[in-house]
Formats: sequence, C-alpha cells, structure tokens
Amino acid sequence: MSELEPASYAKIEATEQMKQLMVNYYIEAKTAEGAGKQVCWITSGGPVEFLIAMDVIPVYPENHGAMCGASKIAVGMAEVAEQMGFSPDVCSYARLDIGGAVTEGGAIPGGLPKPDFLLCCNNICGTVIKWYEELARYFNVPLFLMDTPFIHGEKPEHATEYVKKQCLELVAFLEKQTGRQFSLERFAEAALLSVEAVDLWKEVLATAENRPSPFTCFDAFIHMAPIVTLRGKQEVVDYYRILKAEMEDRVAKGISAVPEEKYRLIWDNIPIWYAMRSLGTLFAENGACLVADTYTTAWAVDIRIDDPLTSMANAYQKVYLNISIDLMVEQLLALIERYDADGLVMHSNRSCKPYSLGQYDLSRMVTERTGKPVLIIEADMTDSRMYSEAQVRERVEAYIESL
Ligand code: SF4
Repeated sequence: MSELEPASYAKIEATEQMKQLMVNYYIEAKTAEGAGKQVCWITSGGPVEFLIAMDVIPVYPENHGAMCGASKIAVGMAEVAEQMGFSPDVCSYARLDIGGAVTEGGAIPGGLPKPDFLLCCNNICGTVIKWYEELARYFNVPLFLMDTPFIHGEKPEHATEYVKKQCLELVAFLEKQTGRQFSLERFAEAALLSVEAVDLWKEVLATAENRPSPFTCFDAFIHMAPIVTLRGKQEVVDYYRILKAEMEDRVAKGISAVPEEKYRLIWDNIPIWYAMRSLGTLFAENGACLVADTYTTAWAVDIRIDDPLTSMANAYQKVYLNISIDLMVEQLLALIERYDADGLVMHSNRSCKPYSLGQYDLSRMVTERTGKPVLIIEADMTDSRMYSEAQVRERVEAYIESL
C-alpha cells in the first residue's frame, strides 16, 4: 500500500475526491499535446498563477518526487542519476526527477509529460537552478529563471520591485512561448481563485487548533497536493470547501485524528514520504498528534487581490525557505503557541540543506524560549537508504516518554 494512505483512525472521506482531482490533473497533463496545450515544469514555490492565466499546464517535479517517494520507487530512479554522475549529496527530488526523465519512469505511467518550457524560482533553494538548467539541456527547451532575494530581516522595498520586474519579464517569456497575449483579466481571475483556495487551506489547517485535533500533519501532507499543483483553478476551491466542511464537522462531533490525543506536536521539514504510514502509526499509538507543520503552512501565501502583482512578488519572496533563522524561529514559536503544542519534531533532511542546516540552532532557540523539548530525526524525504526505522522508533518512544 502506498504511504499516501496514512494510518487513519478516522478516515477522511474527502480523500477519494482529492485522489480523483489529482488523477484528472495528471491525465490532462499527459494528454496536453493532443489537446493543443503546453506543459511547463515549475518549482514548487514558483508563481503558477501566470501559467494558469496563459492556459499552460503546470507540472511539479517535486510533487511527482513525493509520489515516487511514497510509492517507494524513488531510490531506483535516483540511482539512475547517480550512475550518470550526479552525486548522492544532490537533493533526492532532483536526482529522481533526472533519473525519471531519462528512463521515462516514475509514479505516472510513462513518466511525467514532457515540458515545452521550464519555470524555476529560487525562493526555495539554489539546487533548483542547476537542476532546471540540466532539464533545459536534456529536453532542449527554454528556461525562465526567477530570482528572489533572500530575506534576512526587514524586506527592502527594492526587492519587491526587482521581483515585480521579473514577473513582467515572465509575462513576455510566456507570450513568446505560447504565441498568445497575456490577459490581465485572466490573471486576476487565477489570482482570485488562488487567494480563495489559500484562504480555505488556511482554514482547514486552523481546525487543528481544536482539541482533539481532527487531523494530523500526515493527513495535511496528503491533502496539500491540490494547493501545490492546482491553485488558481476553480476545482481546488471546491475541493477545499468540502475538506473544510468535513473537518469542521469532526470538530463539532469531537472526532479525534488519533485514538487518544495526549500530546500535541509540531513537525518541521518535508515529510519522510516512504515512512508516512509507520511514523503516523508510531506517533498515534503513543498518544501524540502532529497538529501542525512548517511545510504545509508554506503554501498558505498571502496574495492581495487589489494589487496581485505586488502582493505576489512579496508573497513568493517570503516563503519559509527564503527567510533567515531569526525569522524562521518566530514562525516556529508562533505555531507552537497557536496550536498549543507540547514539543517540536524536526526532520533533519539530508536532501534539503536550506530546510535542515539551521535546525540545531532553531531547536536550541525553541527550547530556550519555550522550555519545550525538541526531537530531531535524521532521514531523507525520498531516499530510504538514509533511514533506520528501528532507530527512529527508539528515539520517538524515548522522546514521548520525556514529554
Ligand atoms: S533542496 Fe530542498 S527546496 Fe531544494 S528542491 Fe530539494 S527539497 Fe526542494
């Protein structure tokens, strides 16, 4: 069974609808060529609203990477890239994507639909630049690179102007690639739908503030797929309305995501996709509910509809991986307070350096300022060669005992 079927003590009914939504999305992407549509591969933090407005189908190698990780096929794909000369130290999403591209393999039959062009935004890391350059060479397609300055403290005004200018360059790039004219109306429509979906997603996440929490972060990792891949589309808004109603109903009925919620914890970093079931079960059996995380909240970006371009330029710069440790710790502390959490679980992710490098400092700061204990688990989001289930079980059980 795929790890995208988490140990669920109270199965979320909307899951089937979400699966169908994702199946439809991948079918549309796979049949794009026949339908006269173009496909653009985009990084997870990229400004997808521009693509939606231009009727281009966005495809996210990172979302596919998560699916490959959960389906436990990621290692074989990564090994292909390693045999091509890519170091095992390179992010496993990049390795498995490159391996999947050359073998036309992966979690989607025949591999991901080939890109007509590429959009890379470095607000999540520097790895994506080299990764997308490699894809551009391999597929021989144009690449647009959007550069977002790192936010150390107060964000300078010129940074927003710099990103805004690139948004306009992106528009010109897309007009050239598609042969169509950019429509401000279509863009505002996509931005509005994006705002609506993001607001609903935030409301879904907020239902976990209740005791007991109606879902765990393992559920959120699964149900985040539409907000990552399809924001800007009506069906995503419709889907999150359904999910929100279900979560509110659970809250009203006191339905708990874990059999007995004794401890409430926050998760930091990307999920360990191949171990979602076992980890979800392990925490749940020990009375711990992971009520929130830094990963799914990263997609709750704020876009203001009265000035979508400026707010988008701001929002896409301020994503969690593009801010300093001082700003990160404030977000972690806010999550701990808001969700009334007893502790923090950090996945030290060998692949994702920007997410993981400051974690020991963050852990110290969190404990100093809240007195709450932090557990650090070492793993990799898709490369299961870096994971020891027995060791993690031992550490989790000891940690929960210390709570
Ligand atoms: S290094 Fe981290 S942010 Fe960059 S592509 Fe890999 S997982 Fe994503």
